[in-house]
Formats: sequence, structure tokens, C-alpha cells
Amino acid sequence: MEIKITKTTAPKAKPTDESKLGFGKIFTDHMFLMDYSEERGWYDPRIVPYGPIALDPASSVLHYGTEIFEGMKAYRNENGDITMFRPMENIRRMNNSAERLCLPQLDEEFALKALDTLVALEKDWVPHSEGTSLYLRPFMYGADPHLGVHKVHSATFVIIYSPVGAYYAEGLNPVKIIIEDEDVRAVRGGTGYAKCGGNYAASLRAGARAEAKGYTQVLWLDGVERKYVEEVGSMNVMFKVAGKIVTPALTGSVLPGITRKSCIELLRGWGYVVEERLFSIDELLAAAKDGTLEEAWGTGTAAVVSPIGKLCYKDAEYTVTGGKIGSLTQKLYDELTAIQWGKADDKLGWCHKVI
Ligand SMILES: *Cc1c(COP(=O)(O)O)cnc(C)c1O
Repeated sequence: MEIKITKTTAPKAKPTDESKLGFGKIFTDHMFLMDYSEERGWYDPRIVPYGPIALDPASSVLHYGTEIFEGMKAYRNENGDITMFRPMENIRRMNNSAERLCLPQLDEEFALKALDTLVALEKDWVPHSEGTSLYLRPFMYGADPHLGVHKVHSATFVIIYSPVGAYYAEGLNPVKIIIEDEDVRAVRGGTGYAKCGGNYAASLRAGARAEAKGYTQVLWLDGVERKYVEEVGSMNVMFKVAGKIVTPALTGSVLPGITRKSCIELLRGWGYVVEERLFSIDELLAAAKDGTLEEAWGTGTAAVVSPIGKLCYKDAEYTVTGGKIGSLTQKLYDELTAIQWGKADDKLGWCHKVI
């Protein structure tokens, strides 16, 4: 399929102060759109000026939450190349999310071509300063204009881009996390492994409560027993306990993060034992009490890694790594960011060159 490109006649001014970019506040000049119907399959792939999307008020997404998305980045390397980090992993995960929500499958190669074509067109929007990047947000929603509850027959796939600032403008500050023992994010058999908007909707109340109490995010427990650790905020979570790395297994309610996967691959390459298993809150707190909990951190595309300095459970607070960033957390951050920005040898072939 040929992508039809209609360029804007009114390009926006690019941000001049890259230290004020923040996250997801400004968008580039263009967006990609493509429609799907059962009769035609995917059709009309096009790049058009960024702007509002017309939706029938009865559209399935507005009533039944038929929406999935991805989050990835394009990086400007020192040699002038623009690269993405393991983009096929995101595209495959999007197809797994689509399968769960009865949304249509994308052709993987075509989806990558759409991402590449739009990045090449918007290359001047990829910021230059250390730690900045172009955040890529592909998403898909059910567009059936019927209120009957049934699988989706028509859908739209959209890609928008946003230049984002350095996540850690002031260094990697450890965050304070509260363990959530009331709300749950996802349940096994539900949509936890899918990257869908509905999971986020379900997580907002606990996040808001945590913030009101002075915590950055929540540590999610499993939805059945509220006993096993699952994720931290919208990141995967890892612990270093007595020299070994422990991370929750992908039981179906945990999102299979690409940063998680990459950290596991790096850690194993460095000779660490990485256990993907059930990890109970009792085991975590026992390790925090007896000093064997050496480090704890979240992993995700936006922050790469986020060190955990404090854990609170039922009003008791536990300090991790003396409230500082652990050396292994720092090493993971340094190695991953070096690969992503093209400063380290890409031995594992993770970088995809766009231009
Ligand atoms: C996107 C996401 C992650 C992190 O995935 P990455 O591929 O590493 O960015 C973790 N948990 C949730 C709930 C997510 O939505």
C-alpha cells in the first residue's frame, strides 16, 4: 500500500527551549491515519496535518473502551542518524493487544514503514539535547458507530509524535512508592498483558490517592489474593535480593515490557541470575527488613529505569538502598541509554536506523 502524504501549509514553530519540553504536551506537524473495515481490510493509509479526528458519537471506543496503544521513541544519535529501539517488539505487542480486544491485526512490516515514513518526514522535530527524544504514540480504536456490544468491525490506526524532554533533568532521583492493597490494575484472564487505555482508566484512582499522600506511584498487587507483586505505576518492576534479580513472571496480568525484556537480557549477559516468578509482598517486606533487598527499580520506555528509594505498606515505611540509586540500577540505565542514543556498540542489534 502506498502512503498518501498531504503536507501542512502552516508548519508550527519548533520548540526553542528543549529543557521545557516535558512529556506529551506538544505534537509534530503531521499524523498518520489508516482505516479498517471487515470488507476492505486496512485501507487509505495517509499522512495528513496534525489535528482533530472526526468520530461518530456512537463509536465503539467512546462507549466500550476499544482502544490499544504503544509507546516508543526515536533517538537522535551523535552521528546524525535517527534510530528506534526494538520497534518490531512494539508492533508485535500491539498485535497481541489487538487480538485481546478484538481489534484487527496490523501487517507488521507496513506498520514499521508507517512509523519510519512519519519519522523521516518529522525528522527536524527530533530534539537535539542530551536525554531528549521524539516519543512515538501509535494507537488503534474501534470505530463501529453502533451501540450494540459486539466485536469490532471497523477501526482506525493512528500515529502521533511528540518531542519529549529528558526524563531525569535533575538526575535519577529514587521515588517513594506506596503498596496498593485495595484497587487492582488487572486480573489474570483480563487485559493486563494488553496495552489498552482501559487498564489505565482503572489505575488512575490509586495513582491519585498515592500522590495525595506524597508518593510518586503505587506498587500493584495481583487481583486475586492481593499478595503477589505485579508492577509499579505503569512500569514493570525488578528487585535485587541477596545478589539475585527477581521480577514478576508474565502471568497474564503483567504487561510484557520491552525495557523489562531488555534489562533481563542485559542482566543475564552480565552473569546475573534473573528469576521471573511469583514474588509475594511478604517476601519483599521480609527482604526489606533483613537487609537482603539491595535494590528496587521500575522499567519502562519513558523513564528507562526508575529507582525505588522508599516503600510504604499499611503505614509502615521501608527505605531501599539507603534512599539512593543502587549501582546496578545505575549501570542498567547507563547501558540502555548508551545503546538507545548510539553511544555504545549495539551488539544485540536492538537499534533500527530510520534515516
Ligand atoms: C507500557 C507499559 C510498561 C512498560 O513497557 P515498555 O515496553 O518497557 O515501555 C509497563 N507496564 C505497563 C502497564 C505499561 O503500559
